[in-house]
Amino acid sequence: MAAACPGRPSARERPDPPLGPERPERPSAAPHVLKGTPAMTSPTLTEIPDLDSAEELSCDVLVIGGGTAGTMAALTAAGRGASVLLLEKAHVRHSGALAMGMDGVNNAVIPGRAEPDDYVAEITRANDGIVDQSTVRQTATRGFEMVQRLESYGVKFEKDEHGEYAVRQVHRSGSYVLPMPEGKDVKKVLYRQLRRRENRERIRIENRLMPVRVLTAGGRAVGAAAFNTRTGAFVTVRAGAVILATGACGRLGLPASGYLYGTYENPTNAGDGYAMAYHAGAELTGIECFQINPLIKDYNGPACAYVANPFGGYQVNRHGQRFVDSDYWSGQMMAEFAAEVASDRGPVYLKLSHLPEESISALESILHSTERPTRGTFHSGRGHDYRTHDVEMHISEIGLCGGHSASGVRVDEHARTTVPGLYAAGDLACVPHNYMIGAFVFGDLAGEDAARYTAYQGELPQDQLAEAHELIYRPLRNPDGPAQPQVEYKLRRFVNDYVAPPKSGARLSLALEHFERMRDEIAEMGARTPHELMRCAEVSFIRDCAEMAARSSLARTESRWGLYHERIDHPRRDDTAWLHHLDLRKSPTGAMEFTARPVEPYLVPVDEFTPTGGPARHLGEVQPLETATAGHREAPPAALTPETGGAADPTGPTHGTSESTRERLLEVVALTEEEPDLPALEPYLKDADAAVRLAAVKALTETVPPGAGPALATALTDGNGRVSAAAAASLRELAEVLTAEPELRAPLVAALAGADPTARAAALDLLRALRLGDAELFAGLLADVDIEVRLAAVRALVSVDAVEALSEAAGDAAREVRVAVARGFAAVAPHVDRDAGTPAALHRLTGDPDVLVRAAALEALGVLGVPDGLLATASAALTDPAWQVRAGAATALGGAAPDQGVPALSGVLRDTNADVRKAAVLALLRHTARDDARTALAAAVDDPDADVRAYASRAGR
Ligand SMILES: Cc1cc2nc3c(=O)[nH]c(=O)nc-3n(C[C@H](O)[C@H](O)[C@H](O)COP(=O)(O)OP(=O)(O)OC[C@H]3O[C@@H](n4cnc5c(N)ncnc54)[C@H](O)[C@@H]3O)c2cc1C
Repeated sequence: MAAACPGRPSARERPDPPLGPERPERPSAAPHVLKGTPAMTSPTLTEIPDLDSAEELSCDVLVIGGGTAGTMAALTAAGRGASVLLLEKAHVRHSGALAMGMDGVNNAVIPGRAEPDDYVAEITRANDGIVDQSTVRQTATRGFEMVQRLESYGVKFEKDEHGEYAVRQVHRSGSYVLPMPEGKDVKKVLYRQLRRRENRERIRIENRLMPVRVLTAGGRAVGAAAFNTRTGAFVTVRAGAVILATGACGRLGLPASGYLYGTYENPTNAGDGYAMAYHAGAELTGIECFQINPLIKDYNGPACAYVANPFGGYQVNRHGQRFVDSDYWSGQMMAEFAAEVASDRGPVYLKLSHLPEESISALESILHSTERPTRGTFHSGRGHDYRTHDVEMHISEIGLCGGHSASGVRVDEHARTTVPGLYAAGDLACVPHNYMIGAFVFGDLAGEDAARYTAYQGELPQDQLAEAHELIYRPLRNPDGPAQPQVEYKLRRFVNDYVAPPKSGARLSLALEHFERMRDEIAEMGARTPHELMRCAEVSFIRDCAEMAARSSLARTESRWGLYHERIDHPRRDDTAWLHHLDLRKSPTGAMEFTARPVEPYLVPVDEFTPTGGPARHLGEVQPLETATAGHREAPPAALTPETGGAADPTGPTHGTSESTRERLLEVVALTEEEPDLPALEPYLKDADAAVRLAAVKALTETVPPGAGPALATALTDGNGRVSAAAAASLRELAEVLTAEPELRAPLVAALAGADPTARAAALDLLRALRLGDAELFAGLLADVDIEVRLAAVRALVSVDAVEALSEAAGDAAREVRVAVARGFAAVAPHVDRDAGTPAALHRLTGDPDVLVRAAALEALGVLGVPDGLLATASAALTDPAWQVRAGAATALGGAAPDQGVPALSGVLRDTNADVRKAAVLALLRHTARDDARTALAAAVDDPDADVRAYASRAGR
């Protein structure tokens, strides 16, 4: 039942087609629609669908997986004129690692804040030299453009008051972390983009359709075999090119909780793409470099030290000591972490309890809402609070992931795999430490390159279709066979027992024995519904990944990447034999075979490694070690040798609402699907029932018709708090895509006088971000009764460099506001006349009764410089009883004249508080041209605190 696209050219790759705008316009060529409405629940299947009854879809570019990389690949390929089919086994709107949003970009190379070559060198070091720099460089050089593209879609990144990206230094070297405190909407924004009219014409999304095999013909990718996880229908796809974007293999090891889906990674990512690439003949590489992350004990989420670190949080052992010497993105860090947890100094905690109230509430507003909304509930369920309890941490189960580590499908700098027409992007591809922005960049690269192909027109390979059909439907033949949860639990417990680090040849060999035997157990699993069929297919992918992990780990006979590949029987790193990628592939006979490929000479040199390239070593299959223990009956027990030794809310849920309200709510939902214009929604925005107005605000946000901004701004003054709060949230969400126009300014200004402080703060933030306000307007809000509004006013005043008005706010009653003012003086410093001297108000704040205000004022002097009149104050503050003030004073003296600052700072290196010593080290790093600064830093290299040691040792670099 082939449904080829009408009027398409013959099936072959287009030779050197023109790309970009010059490509000739093609008629809309969305792929064939799958017939039938999938049932909402999984029906019992009594018959196996015939192989011949398959529905066939056709497209130029098939994208498998609608997460981060997949959505970007689809958008770019469609933008280049290809007809795209996007298959997602869940629902694109809320699937994948971004489903609950993202709280920051881990690796943004923002011009002026970081250099692409420095980033490439950092990642090379973090990955112990095993890097194809040509791929990492793509992320380094294209990441910023991607940030801007995402911003044009409406994704929001944190900016300072001047509209500059608020990049933070989290790693010991380089500033790469770009926070996204409002990143919960990322997936929603992408979905909105996919559904724009011009994209809909070229991109067909099929949710709940799950491919299990990529089809190949003549050595190249030509489509996929899939099934519908709601109806059970068999579906085949013919395609010109296939992009795999199915994410990490998150369901490899078993989490400490024992829950199959309680993984660090998104649990729908079961390694499907790794298995599909392998069976299609593509090479995978670095599979032995596992992903292991720090996470919260008993909660399947990261502790988010990345988020907490810029606020002053850090990891400590139970004695409160910082212990991490290496940088945060290396496997070495995980080795130090695991050793500390296992030692008498464990457990390990994320320490936040020392932070001031405003930092803790800011952290709560990010950590409990953006990535993991359940996190607050988890802590409060245990009676814990960051103010009184530090967060116990643990290490995650193992997984495979290119994005957090380096285990993935081998790709070049255009996301091409070693199989023509097959691409891999995102966590599934081996581009070390690529994270979210790298997934977007490589999705884009894949989409661009794949758009060269047109739909395959030859015959689909019948043998491969039959094999895929068998893989999908065999559990139906045996409905009473072992259930998927049992089999999967057993398989993944073997992974924990025998494959998780520390690794040994003997344990890995035993693992292989179990994984071989489990082929049969997996073939006997039973299922009755399409949903269960999906889970059974996933178990086969997990088994494939487990075998790849064990064999690769056996093949690399050295230790590298800290905990990720710690071999206790080969404990040293061996750069002579192993400065190599380890590639694996399925041989023509079906065996898993290996090649050691020397790392190519670097594009960006790093001191620690000097790869020379050269010929690859074919290793062939990897044989398990002999592990049987039984010997001759007469043999005595073997001796130990040194080697073997030892009140009802009107906007709440709809029950209780009247029939007519329900009808209007349904009308709004239906309208949303049709991309309504503003007049169509206006009656609902003015509806007497707040629930309907709330629904209309949400519809406006999702569809963003012309005029949406002013309409939402008007809703800020809605009499119902939930409606005005929703309008405030929407305006913040859409800030990047709204036009700064008088029609928007007027209702925003009106909202400043409204009753709802959340709406007033949002109106101020919007006026600031869109540059629609001035100092006079913003200063008017400094007298607001609400602290959040006054803080928003301070931010806004900083954005227009209003030093005078800021000075007025320095007398505010709230310490949070005075802290913001002190920081504001530092932020406006580069934009105002330096000859005017240090503002008098800042002088006053250095003597503020509040410890945190004094500390912030002193820190600001680190940027502004210390005038003669304040030198004595800053020096005296070095002996203040409060450590925060002493740390601020050390920072201030970093900005003093070196003759005055350096001698004072050298003494601070003996302070009892590690954060004060750290501030002194960072201040001294500004003066490394001086001998006395270098001598002081050299002494600090032996400091008992890991952070102080690590920063001090940077002076030697
Ligand atoms: C807990 C956590 C926190 C993170 N925090 C950060 C951070 O703060 N900053 C940062 O930069 N990065 C962070 N990352 C990393 C970042 O989110 C990922 O690198 C990135 O989102 C990966 O994108 P992807 O497209 O490869 O995978 P995903 O976005 O997960 O997409 C994979 C998609 O494929 C679908 N799929 C899987 N198998 C099939 C199949 N057989 N058929 C059809 N569809 C299939 C899945 O349902 C999913 O929708 C974090 C990741 C995690 C897990």
